[in-house]
Amino acid sequence: MSLKVLKFGGSSLADATHFRQVADIVKADPTRRYVVASAPGKRQGSDTKITDLLYKCYALAVNEEDVTNVFNEIKQRYIDIINDLGLDLDLTDVFEKIRGSLLHNSGRDYIASRGEYLNAMILAKFLGFDFIDAKKVIFFNEDGSFNSEKTNDVMREVLSAHEYAVIPGFYGSMPNGTIKTFSRGGSDVTGSIVARAASATLYENWTDVSGFLMADPRIIDNPKPIKTITYKELRELSYMGATVLHEDAIFPVRYSKIPINIRNTNRPEDKGTFIVPETDDIGEYVITGIAGRTGFSSVTVEKAMMNMELGLGRKVLQVLEENGISFEHFPSGIDTMTVIVSTKALTEKRADVLAGICKNVNPENVFVEENMALLAVVGRGMVKAKGTAARVFSSLANANVNIRMIDQGSSELNIIIGVDANDYITALNAIYNEFVK
Ligand code: ASP
Repeated sequence: MSLKVLKFGGSSLADATHFRQVADIVKADPTRRYVVASAPGKRQGSDTKITDLLYKCYALAVNEEDVTNVFNEIKQRYIDIINDLGLDLDLTDVFEKIRGSLLHNSGRDYIASRGEYLNAMILAKFLGFDFIDAKKVIFFNEDGSFNSEKTNDVMREVLSAHEYAVIPGFYGSMPNGTIKTFSRGGSDVTGSIVARAASATLYENWTDVSGFLMADPRIIDNPKPIKTITYKELRELSYMGATVLHEDAIFPVRYSKIPINIRNTNRPEDKGTFIVPETDDIGEYVITGIAGRTGFSSVTVEKAMMNMELGLGRKVLQVLEENGISFEHFPSGIDTMTVIVSTKALTEKRADVLAGICKNVNPENVFVEENMALLAVVGRGMVKAKGTAARVFSSLANANVNIRMIDQGSSELNIIIGVDANDYITALNAIYNEFVK
């Protein structure tokens, strides 16, 4: 039997007009039963998200400064929504309680969470759905990690008593009952948790874009949307900076193999992107998407007969580990080993890292090259399509881009290419045009 869990992001619930669009979407399909709400987002470019205003309020209160103006701004946003929707809902007591907690130093997370709490109450009233407070169904462990099993058991039980309900996103409770939030954008995670507990057939994540695009629209002109992407491909692209969905939102639904559909509240006619556990459908193009980031450096270690020296790789990586630097890739030759790391992480520890490598493996040469960009060409279709790598490399050669590093994962799901950061935009365009245009 079909059952859908929906999550609406802050821009989808920023004002009364958006609330009406949301209601139309929810009511269009009776299997849309559980709705997770974010706090009101920006109404236009210069606007401030409610969550940011709440953090600001908290900071003022901690410094014992006057919160009145910011608090009233927050309150007014909700009152405007309630009045514009013509709802018979009086939240005076709730606002008073929040204001009181601010003055009595209740936690930062508690204050931040009130954005979704209030918005979910309003949405529940508007839809005529039950309201379930997330603090009663989402639990964290003493050390702050998410308690997935307790959450799943309790949430499942509670949901079974509500045919239709709205649940605020972003937060849950600690063992002592205090409120704790996920990291920013965490309502995506709540939606995924609800979908798992409800054994949903689909998790619809409604936002302000019609799904994932094949490349960053700030770099590629009008990139094509991705119709279907697997969880694994998404992970590869998100790692390289393509963000629409909170990274942790994958895990609960992935566990139960529930697909996610990214949809656009402002264009409900668009089908959006389906994120699925796996699929035989290769899609229209050999590649699913391409993403990248600048800000990488390479540390190269040279030593004759390196390939014969047992434990050398481990000793080099150990130096990085001791300096708290995680590595991204390490392409190697017979007498060279290169480790790609984030430039930011390396900069602070550079002298220690170089000294540590010299001490640990006594190399002939060790040097750092900065200013590298990494590009990930991702696609489940690459396993079957011969000549994909050749096409990637010839497109870069034709665009006069020098390749500094190549790394193809053994899953053949992606090819990672390192180029000079100055060539980054040219390289992305060259590869995109080769496969898509
Ligand atoms: N409102 C929170 C934030 O701005 C959580 C969310 O929207 O998912 O990060």
